[in-house]
Amino acid sequence: MLNNEYLKRVYEEVERRDAHEPEFLQAVREVFESLELVVDKHPEWEKNGLIERFVEPERVVEFRVPWVDDAGKTHVNRGYRVQFNSAIGPYKGGLRFHPSVNLSVIKFLGFEQILKNSLTTLPMGGGKGGSDFDPKGKSDAEVMRFCQSFMTELYRHIGQFTDTPAGDIGVGGREVAYMYGQYKRIVDRFEGGVITGKGLTFGGSLARTQATGFGLCYFSAEALKHLKNDSYEGKTVVVSGSGNVAQYCAEKVTALGGKVVAMSDSQGYVYDPNGIDLPKLFDIKQKRRARISVYADEVAGAEYHEGCRNIWNVKCDIAHPCASQNEMDEKGAQALVDNGCMAVFEGANMPLTPEAIEVVKSNGLLYSPGKASNAGGVATSGLEMTQNSMRLSWSFEEVDEKLQGIMKNIYKACYDASVECGKPGDLMLGANVAGFLKVAEAMMAQGVV
Ligand code: NDP
Repeated sequence: MLNNEYLKRVYEEVERRDAHEPEFLQAVREVFESLELVVDKHPEWEKNGLIERFVEPERVVEFRVPWVDDAGKTHVNRGYRVQFNSAIGPYKGGLRFHPSVNLSVIKFLGFEQILKNSLTTLPMGGGKGGSDFDPKGKSDAEVMRFCQSFMTELYRHIGQFTDTPAGDIGVGGREVAYMYGQYKRIVDRFEGGVITGKGLTFGGSLARTQATGFGLCYFSAEALKHLKNDSYEGKTVVVSGSGNVAQYCAEKVTALGGKVVAMSDSQGYVYDPNGIDLPKLFDIKQKRRARISVYADEVAGAEYHEGCRNIWNVKCDIAHPCASQNEMDEKGAQALVDNGCMAVFEGANMPLTPEAIEVVKSNGLLYSPGKASNAGGVATSGLEMTQNSMRLSWSFEEVDEKLQGIMKNIYKACYDASVECGKPGDLMLGANVAGFLKVAEAMMAQGVV
């Protein structure tokens, strides 16, 4: 419940204007609930309409993406780019290709991205984009034609000092490469810093592919050590999803001594009591682009269960939701609690419903929001842009070391802010407050723009 009159009024206004955008409203509400204390201390924000400006994107672009499939049939998808906030740097945030993409989803992701990018300490504003195109089941040639068509419109809105997209769900190395190729062709410039997640032969950064999953584990390890004097060693871990974030989260959990016993995709989950066989998982997902059920067909002792939401019934010490928004509801969270789980660290963006967060927090589990614990991906995108500007490449170890440093600093910023707000260890509160204060200061300094 919101108590601060100013926040309440702005939220009601957002609710009225954006009533048809449930994910965006959910993200705004969660952040507002954390900001009550700091807004009370800054009456000048209301006078300057700071919060009203904070919830309104600077620019929203929506466009037609026509493309022709291998059979010669024309399809029309919808493309989006939400340039939410550029107070601390050029807009930065991924592109998502998934049938569930709509303006509400892109706005919620762009809004979260403002605070996430602020937490990284790098100079990046918040943005997000994508399309309701589904790359699943499409040929490489179809994906290429779609990406080229998408970029043929997007190119005029982006640039290394304006807006720099990256990958997200459904957009990996293949899609980024096709989009970069088209951008380069149109503008006739090798402007590497315009998009991140590029291939290593044309300006990509070592460790970018691994960064979100690895960073999630660096953040979580820091929280476990600092708040519980504990570690991943000997822990049973459930990782939902089996895409980019989930794969490298599973790899790092295993390297740090944990055992990942379950992973999923949107259809169902696999349970492997012996611990997920990572080379097999990478082969199925990265080479064959097959369903997670194939894992159970090919690994002795592993089971496949229909229905991805049931993955939270698997007993574990630590849960890493790494698939999509609202993938864990109250029931899933309660199942974790009942099975003695000690921590939920988010890899995906907003994977827990507000009710699930309530269950997790009120039962004393450690909890970190995605905007803090998955920020390693965008942070390493920032490092990719730095290397592009310097025209050199750092080694895997150099990038990984910087990533570790950034994740530790993000943890510290969240923890310190939680202490200042009188709720030590409330990392959700800390992430929202720490991320917001920097953006607020920059917005106030720059006047009413
Ligand atoms: P991928 O496309 O590589 O993988 C997504 C995974 O989640 C797949 O296993 C997919 O299954 C599953 N999934 C997608 N939608 C749903 C759904 N509605 N219900 C259940 N499962 C679903 O994406 P990423 O790994 O890159 O992204 C995962 C999450 O992490 C997203 O929330 C994203 O915003 C966030 N994130 C990603 C970053 C990155 O660097 N890539 C950075 C920071 C956050 P299926 O194959 O069946 O669709």
